[in-house]
Amino acid sequence: MRIYDIIEKKRNNKKLSKEEISFFVNGYVNKEIPDYQMAALLMAIYFNGMDDNELAYLTNEMANSGDSVDLTRIKGITVDKHSTGGVGDKTTLVICPIIASLGCNVAKMSGRGLGHTGGTIDKLESIPGFKVELDEDDFFKQVNDINIAIISQTGNITPADKKMYALRDTTATVESIPLIASSIMSKKIAAGAKCILLDVKTGSGAFMKTISDSKLLASKMVNIGNKLGRNTMAIITNMDVPLGNNIGNSLEVIEAIDTLKGKGPKDFRELCIELATNMLVLASNDNYSICKKKVIDALDSGKALDKFRQLIKAQGGNVDIINDYSLFGKTQYSFEVRAKESGYIKSMNTANIGKVSGMVGAGRATKEDSICYQAGIIVNKKTGDHVKTGDLLATIYTNKKEVIDEATTLYLDSIKLSKVKVKPKKLILGKIK
Ligand code: URA
Repeated sequence: MRIYDIIEKKRNNKKLSKEEISFFVNGYVNKEIPDYQMAALLMAIYFNGMDDNELAYLTNEMANSGDSVDLTRIKGITVDKHSTGGVGDKTTLVICPIIASLGCNVAKMSGRGLGHTGGTIDKLESIPGFKVELDEDDFFKQVNDINIAIISQTGNITPADKKMYALRDTTATVESIPLIASSIMSKKIAAGAKCILLDVKTGSGAFMKTISDSKLLASKMVNIGNKLGRNTMAIITNMDVPLGNNIGNSLEVIEAIDTLKGKGPKDFRELCIELATNMLVLASNDNYSICKKKVIDALDSGKALDKFRQLIKAQGGNVDIINDYSLFGKTQYSFEVRAKESGYIKSMNTANIGKVSGMVGAGRATKEDSICYQAGIIVNKKTGDHVKTGDLLATIYTNKKEVIDEATTLYLDSIKLSKVKVKPKKLILGKIK
């Protein structure tokens, strides 16, 4: 077999066989195929795509290119969730405790934030003492004991994806729906769970800007998961506006705890209930309304909050933060962004709001940057709200005095007003099974 022939075949829009896909994935990881030939092949895939069988073969090869987590040591059903990334998206902190409190196992590996979106691991690390690294035995023991552990991605998971993603990043081939689908799903397959719920975000703060692209990505990922023996479902959700009110690591943990106490913002609670319900449907085969009732009960009875407390304790965090938010610490400065004119908020450039949060210290531009856990934004007005000149739009928290002017300008520029009333978009936009 020759890589030249595989490139030519895909360039001519022919389907690749399982053996050909295995040949190029392994050849690339083993350095037998050089970057220039892999780049040509990725560009051919970018233009000609891959069908569902090719995508399942590709994903499987990528998932098997390094370590994979064997969850058979966990008793009972394992469930995972993945969000394609958004601003203010702290759903993992609420729905995983809900699901675990209902007896499902969440053995989760999560990532850090990069670019305008945040990451669960940074959020958990904002809890004083919380350890995001556990050795394998402790990880499995914790899940068997309390049904939940959330750790940072460890070991040599999907090296094929790491290498291919880095190459795509420099060869203008990131924006390919089949390549994005196989990249995301390879990591989920390697992480081992039997049931996978995908939250595919759509809109100005999401990777996918249009509903049609989001639906296509969701259906490709669901097909891959199901073909590879995982019970997979996707929910398409709106990311044209930040989720909830708080953006930034400890601010998001606080909002998640408020929600577990029954006091969270309406949109965030609604999304958590929808995602947790569908996770439970996947894991239990009970119908949607039975699962929804159980989820609401877990939230409203305090069972899910208790599970979050157990998770924090098991991973070394200070559980007192649940009743005393001052233990998270504070930034040196806070400043208010106020409306310059009146009107209805027509749109919010949510990626730019995510950038403001990064700029004030909550995120990183490169993997090596350090972050300030307490930095971020509390959003006071969102799409559809009416504002009068001088009204508080948001409060920004930072230790960086020098970015205040730039952050204010970018925040104000992100918001467009209208003289006429605006109806905000629905939060839950579709489901793909
Ligand atoms: N996220 C991933 O993990 N992979 C992609 O290709 C794009 C987004």
